[in-house]
Amino acid sequence: MTEKADLQSVLDRAAAGGRITPEEALALYRDAPLHALGAAADAVRRRRYAGIEHIATYIIERNINYTNVCVTACKFCAFYAAPKDKDKGWTRDLDDILRRCAETVELGGTQIMFQGGHHPDYGVEYYEKHFKAIKDAFPQLVIHSLGASEVEHMARISGVSVEEAITRIHEAGLDSFAGAGAELLPARPRKAIAPLKESGERWLEIMETAHRLGVESTSTMLMGTGETNAERIEHLRMIRDVQDRTGGFRAFIPYTYQPENNHLKGRTQATLFEYLRMIAIARVFLDNVQHIQGSWLTTGKEVGQLSLHYGADDLGSIMLEENVVSSAGAKHRSNRLEIIDLIRKADRVPAQRATTYEHLVVHDDPANDPVDERVMSHISSTAIEGGTAHPELKLLSAN
Ligand code: SF4
Repeated sequence: MTEKADLQSVLDRAAAGGRITPEEALALYRDAPLHALGAAADAVRRRRYAGIEHIATYIIERNINYTNVCVTACKFCAFYAAPKDKDKGWTRDLDDILRRCAETVELGGTQIMFQGGHHPDYGVEYYEKHFKAIKDAFPQLVIHSLGASEVEHMARISGVSVEEAITRIHEAGLDSFAGAGAELLPARPRKAIAPLKESGERWLEIMETAHRLGVESTSTMLMGTGETNAERIEHLRMIRDVQDRTGGFRAFIPYTYQPENNHLKGRTQATLFEYLRMIAIARVFLDNVQHIQGSWLTTGKEVGQLSLHYGADDLGSIMLEENVVSSAGAKHRSNRLEIIDLIRKADRVPAQRATTYEHLVVHDDPANDPVDERVMSHISSTAIEGGTAHPELKLLSAN
């Protein structure tokens, strides 16, 4: 299988739209020349987006971290505080959360990511209350938040089934799940980095339940905590199998582990080549998932730009606030004009998208580019404790 001619014939089949097996995917991921793998993925992307293949998308969102208090203690996580750690732990009140939503709307954001720890007191009622308050005040904001881990946790706290938990938070305002907590789905690497989280099978089972209840999601992969290539491909297989049954995963988003301030010292990050190979193999292997997202937040803008030539059709979000991966060392930031410029320099036409990927604004004429550079990504792990707004947001408030 690893003979050059065999690899090329699998690449040709994949580029032409044929389904490849996990074994073939592993061989390509490991042994195919990088550019050939990228070219096959780009061929798949172009065919999937025939007519709009010249466009690459981004979204403006705010990631609101509502608490860092967490009972799950994942070893890769630099964000959480144990419940007994009163000095480090914090929570946001509803007024603070609504103020952040208001700033998001003022800056043209369309989506809220509600992301936080597994707080020992936060059951279904907490999320119902907050989602309802956000939707009452800002019905135009899409709540694309949480994942199977939070659902498992809140259902346990409230003593209800995951079906009931999903139904209730959906009715309260949750639009879709963000696919957080997938980390690595196969058992060995998952136990090594997140021993208290639900199993990968359970994560998928809850996502499958959500899809059946009409709540779609994205899917993610955390790369670079010591997993093998075979385990990365197994992660993709597990997602593809569920997607064959539900069709509920809108996108796949791999991102790289950030090694600072956590309990996994000594583990290596995935290399940028490994990351690009993952983007490409995901585009080739996940023939039933519509979108592949390049994650510039953890890999940098240049790699995000390159990912658009390796199968990605979307660069994700310009985040007005983010504190989770930045706590672990992610230092990349950008603003709207930079992302537009970056996409143009990758020879694509930028488009701001909705959560469900419709194009909201196509930037096909530089003369009409937005002039408001205040749409910045907010990368700070210290600002959260005092609930401090980004300086640009303060400026906006002052105006
Ligand atoms: S990754 Fe999430 S669940 Fe795990 S320790 Fe961090 S906040 Fe808690």
